[in-house]
Amino acid sequence: MKSLINFHNPKTKLIYLKQKSLFDLFCTSVSVGLHKEAGLWLFSASQTVDMAAAAARIDRGRRSVSLLGTVTGCRATHTAPKSRYDALVVGGGELRGLHCVAAYLQKGGVKTAVLERRHVLGGAAVTEEIFPGFHFSRCSYLLSLLRPHIIRDLELKKHGLKVYLRDPHAFTPMLEDGVRGAPPRSLILGSDLASNQREIGKFSQKDAKVYPEFTAHLEKLAGAIHPLLDSSPVDIPGVTTGSLKKRLSAAKTLMPILKCGLKLGRNVPDFYEILTAPITKILFRWFESEPLRATLATDGVIGAMTSPSNPGSGYVLLHHVMGELEKEKGAWGYVEGGMGGVSQAMARAARSYGVDIFTEKDVEQILVGSDGSAKGVALKDGTEINSKVVLSNATPYVTFRNLTPQAALSSEFIRAVDQIDYTSPVTKINVAVDKLPNFLALPTPDGKPGPHHQCSIHLNCESVEVLETAYKEATNGRPSTRPMLEMTIPSVLDPTLAPPGCHVVSLFTQFTPYHVEGREWTSQDREAFADTVFDWVEQYAPGFKKSVVGRDILSPPDLERIFGLTGGNIFHGSMSLDQLYLARPLPSLSNYRSPIKGLYLCGSGCHPGGGVMGSPGWNAAVTVMADLKSH
Ligand SMILES: Cc1cc2nc3c(=O)[nH]c(=O)nc-3n(C[C@H](O)[C@H](O)[C@H](O)COP(=O)(O)OP(=O)(O)OC[C@H]3O[C@@H](n4cnc5c(N)ncnc54)[C@H](O)[C@@H]3O)c2cc1C
Repeated sequence: MKSLINFHNPKTKLIYLKQKSLFDLFCTSVSVGLHKEAGLWLFSASQTVDMAAAAARIDRGRRSVSLLGTVTGCRATHTAPKSRYDALVVGGGELRGLHCVAAYLQKGGVKTAVLERRHVLGGAAVTEEIFPGFHFSRCSYLLSLLRPHIIRDLELKKHGLKVYLRDPHAFTPMLEDGVRGAPPRSLILGSDLASNQREIGKFSQKDAKVYPEFTAHLEKLAGAIHPLLDSSPVDIPGVTTGSLKKRLSAAKTLMPILKCGLKLGRNVPDFYEILTAPITKILFRWFESEPLRATLATDGVIGAMTSPSNPGSGYVLLHHVMGELEKEKGAWGYVEGGMGGVSQAMARAARSYGVDIFTEKDVEQILVGSDGSAKGVALKDGTEINSKVVLSNATPYVTFRNLTPQAALSSEFIRAVDQIDYTSPVTKINVAVDKLPNFLALPTPDGKPGPHHQCSIHLNCESVEVLETAYKEATNGRPSTRPMLEMTIPSVLDPTLAPPGCHVVSLFTQFTPYHVEGREWTSQDREAFADTVFDWVEQYAPGFKKSVVGRDILSPPDLERIFGLTGGNIFHGSMSLDQLYLARPLPSLSNYRSPIKGLYLCGSGCHPGGGVMGSPGWNAAVTVMADLKSH
């Protein structure tokens, strides 16, 4: 079988001949380090040669080779789990699994263990050294949504979390011939409003004028969501059934909605509109220039198999602008050492409270007793661990279809679980390069980073029509021929990620279907799609293809197989209007409890959904603590 990782730069072969001594060591590292994905990382001989050569060509070659395939930090407690805990958490995703546990111990003294299937903690928030010396945020790559109270409560900065803020943050180069020898135009957005207006003015003076008003408006709408993030959805059974005392007590779950309404004031109708509308409806009302519309529209479709003209894309945009970093509203930044840095800080915090954390503990089944309640888990190696409660950080599908005995669930419930939408458009491509991309629109011939290199670089973003077409191709079962590309180069700000002079490039691409023309993805499909992506990048930044040392291609089925993301969906279920708040992931599961007493969901399949945010874990922990207290 061909590798998903492909060192495909022919020039590396020459260097291989000169550096043959590294070859054996490198191959050993490959087989030791990468077999861990259940034997899926196999390499053809020529690729292995290329990989060895690639290892040799970087400055830190010898040291890096011995690290290949390992993960940057974040390893687990290596003693065996005890036979009994108060709480077991299935899955060590960065925030839901780890944070949930930490909250337990911090607030309630519940003895807890985390059991992670992979050899590394963090789930989709992980750093992996895929090629020697190159440390990738292999899935998620930018931080903004992590709730500030969680950073404070768990003292994540004390535990090593460091973030690089980006200013400017968005760069959209045009694919056009510059007028009278000038370079093609581009749009750069950051925190300086006057500079933003100058940039937008290159395309439309009218848009430049209204942009500050638009951002203030959006900030107001996004800020109103915060009270809803930090608490469970309204307890509908609680407020509608039971004694008056119980109902009054449950009525306090209405408070976040009231707070949201009060924050919005007369903007309630605008809020309702953006939640439900196609984002084009809003953007086309405010703006006339296509590059600005398309750049903003990307936030309305990112991670979602939807187009900017579909209802609900407004909410997706809101979800992506509601965060804050270092008190800066809506800002996104790079975590030092990659996104695994969040998970490492979280794990250190959890351990400091006494949590036991284990990797390579694949949960085979949630144990359900004869009274119908959860009793613990059985691991794939046959070990059984007992507990009072079990929290699942896995997706709702994995939890209820793969891990829970089906006889313990009703057929209606199983049918509802099967209906949860996990459609995903994302293929993530992680690229190691030996040279910074040099964009025609803002040339940097000296090879030094310009301000635009730290941005989210939006390629194929000249107009909303380009995004629409890319979406339509995928809904017809084919990867887009002109995909929407969000490129980031975190090593521009964080030198720990790549060898000197080299860089890690993340390409978050849409739209790719789960099945290609109704069949499974083949390695040829993956390589062909990556080639298409690289051809497009080459047009904006000639020389990119030559600079590539290696690439790691993760199509939707790869994201499912490696990271346990059902359907490849990056949010543990679409963030569509029918799967939010009281209906996330299902109306019957919206309060983190499940039909099995003592079994809870704590991952991003729950309210308030995906992103490196922490809220589902926090809310689930509060729910579990309340249940444990009342029994
Ligand atoms: C390609 C990609 C890019 C993204 N980009 C961003 C971004 O830039 N910013 C952002 O905020 N968000 C981003 N996201 C979304 C974000 O990463 C996720 O929403 C978030 O990390 C999910 O966290 P989680 O803890 O809920 O689940 P996960 O991170 O999925 O963790 C679940 C864990 O459970 C484990 N598990 C599953 N089954 C078992 C079992 N049987 N036994 C033991 N363990 C098990 C899994 O191995 C995994 O570690 C991205 C996601 C992807 C995939």
